[in-house]
Amino acid sequence: MAKTRVVIALGSNLGDRGEHIQSAAEQIGAIEGVKLVKLSGIMESFAITPAGVDESKPKYLNAVALVDTSLKAKELLAALQNIENQHGRVRLEKWGSRTLDLDIIDFGGQIKAGKELLLPHPRAYQRAFVMVPWAQLDPEAILPGHGSVAELAADLAEDPKQKVWFL
Ligand code: AMP
Repeated sequence: MAKTRVVIALGSNLGDRGEHIQSAAEQIGAIEGVKLVKLSGIMESFAITPAGVDESKPKYLNAVALVDTSLKAKELLAALQNIENQHGRVRLEKWGSRTLDLDIIDFGGQIKAGKELLLPHPRAYQRAFVMVPWAQLDPEAILPGHGSVAELAADLAEDPKQKVWFL
């Protein structure tokens, strides 16, 4: 069966954040048709809202997972949303605090501008907490439309607001 290499970002800023990230990574690996290939270290970052970095909000723990899947992108998204819901995710406000956020960052280089699914993730290139761990897991990675992930990570790492702390 054809397999697609996928990059998934995990984030949590409510509850037992480390437990949400660790158990979500295990649940992702247990989805039928998904194999967890690599999980980055866990790091901490400032919360981002539509107004920008908000240091008054609880900080996030983040990680990035590389997986191989035989699922289609929308099938994977549905499985990830099911995991978010199992973690008691409640959507109260756009970009509000959350127990668990799972985003598909890249799906085998696919470009898609659907209502439910945008690929690659439209803001990933601006986020050190995605680019830095992805570059560590796969130094040769390319983000469609934006180029070398390692170069994006190096540029973002210079911005103090984008600081990430590996635990
Ligand atoms: P959020 O509340 O930030 O987790 O956003 C979830 C919404 O983003 C869902 O309605 C998804 O359909 C949509 N979405 C669009 N593109 C993506 C993507 N690449 N990964 C995850 N969710 C996405």
